[in-house]
Amino acid sequence: MTIARPPITYGHHIYGRSTTGPSNETFVRNSPMSADVVSVYANGTSSDVDLASNAARVAFDEGQWPRMRGSERAQILLRWASLIRDNQEALAALEVEETGKTIRFAREDAIGMAELTAYAASLAYEMHGDSFSNLGERHSAVVHREAIGVVGLIVPWNFPGLIYCQKVPFALAAGNSVIVKPSEFTSGTALYLTRLAEEAGVPAGVINVVTGAGPVVGQSLVAHPDVDMISFTGSTAVGRKVLEQAAAAPKRVHVELGSKAANIVFADADLEDALDGTLFGVFFNQGECCVSGARLLVQDSIADEFVTALVARTKALRVGNPRDEKTDIGALIHRDHMVNVLKHVAEGQSAGAQLLIGGGPQEVVGFPDGAFMQLTILDQVHEDMNVFQQEIFGPVLVITRFTDEEEAIRLANASSYGLANAVWTRDVDRAITVPRRLKSGTVYVNTQIDGAVQLPFGGYKGSGFGREMGKLGLEEFTQTKSVMYHLGKRQPYFVSKEV
Ligand code: NDP
Repeated sequence: MTIARPPITYGHHIYGRSTTGPSNETFVRNSPMSADVVSVYANGTSSDVDLASNAARVAFDEGQWPRMRGSERAQILLRWASLIRDNQEALAALEVEETGKTIRFAREDAIGMAELTAYAASLAYEMHGDSFSNLGERHSAVVHREAIGVVGLIVPWNFPGLIYCQKVPFALAAGNSVIVKPSEFTSGTALYLTRLAEEAGVPAGVINVVTGAGPVVGQSLVAHPDVDMISFTGSTAVGRKVLEQAAAAPKRVHVELGSKAANIVFADADLEDALDGTLFGVFFNQGECCVSGARLLVQDSIADEFVTALVARTKALRVGNPRDEKTDIGALIHRDHMVNVLKHVAEGQSAGAQLLIGGGPQEVVGFPDGAFMQLTILDQVHEDMNVFQQEIFGPVLVITRFTDEEEAIRLANASSYGLANAVWTRDVDRAITVPRRLKSGTVYVNTQIDGAVQLPFGGYKGSGFGREMGKLGLEEFTQTKSVMYHLGKRQPYFVSKEV
């Protein structure tokens, strides 16, 4: 077990320099596991967003980054990926202190940050447009794929470094410059990663970071006339505000929003694997995960046996000190969030759900002020209950039983969200046909919260639009320009030649 460290003080990162900005004000981040101050941040204002936007604008309009060959950008991004790997322990430790996630999984996040960056480098080589030589003898056309310009990137607190890396290296690979607005709770990794990027050779002004409150810094960024595009990941409620504001400009916007994924367990599944996957699907990252399998749909012929085993396994999981290598589940992001999660649970019980386990704060020795919550399971949940429909974003599993495949698919799709779903079955036909009928941007079959950097990621329905990762993850940050050529002497447009 490691001990808490003294707080780290950070400035915004604008044009390659750390600055507290004109206001010189700061705010603190208290540890999610204790009342200790872990970070002191510059409290951003619209003036800081002005400075950052100006730096990004100059870097794009006059700087070398968008004018380099793709291969040169790729080399710098590869160096960045390598530095991330070298700094993986420090990045993981930062995330533990600010998010409350466990060190084991924080380390995996850090490895993912490096992999995303290295993959984005490969796309910098590959970015290209199209050409048409089938337009007749007198025409030819090329389609250029170009950077958008200055992109504002708004990042949530649950995977601060990983989501930064789902956006920044991809936007950079295309030649854009960016302003990042990290969550006020977890800005440490964004600043650390940005310093590593500049060490790797990304020119000053290409990545700028402004810390501070969402309604101040985030809103100023979305409204700023020098910002050409916004890529937002966060809650549906804030996403809606971002969309409204971006529509007023208007400017291009990409949104990754909330979710309420179904985890469907058929009677023919390997039940050992399904149990393990169900636990991981809902409790990984304290349930603060956009693709959490928070709704268990289980076939009624095996439901009692499966649920009994699930409760027993849940009791064996270790909620506790996130710095301890043996801990499975750490602290929630802050106590207010935990109170909100617990309200959802109480409301579910009032609506008729049956509490099988949990439902309260979890005491952890040595951390009396921590936002630790008992792992919670609600059974007998119906599709018209709020706990079935609303994203709770905590370690809360709701269980609904189904009789056949049709009902499972109907229940899974009975959600305003569509980010991800999971299916557990050993039937080959079912493993192919059910994913085709699920309305979500990702489907896991006999696995949970899985993926690869090559696979595009994003929502159907209320979970948003646009894609991150995969080739589409780069295309999201580009626009096309069609150039039409006429070949040879033209025929006049109009027949009359004299006035
Ligand atoms: P929020 O929507 O509260 O915040 C997201 C980001 O937006 C933060 O940086 C926040 O800043 C900022 N923000 C807040 N208000 C505004 C505003 N008015 N204008 C512009 N920006 C603003 O989400 P959380 O951070 O609470 O993250 C949890 C949510 O994110 C969940 O709903 C989850 O499903 C979703 N999510 C979705 C993912 C996906 O890929 N679809 C992935 C991960 C999370 P600040 O924190 O400083 O207030």
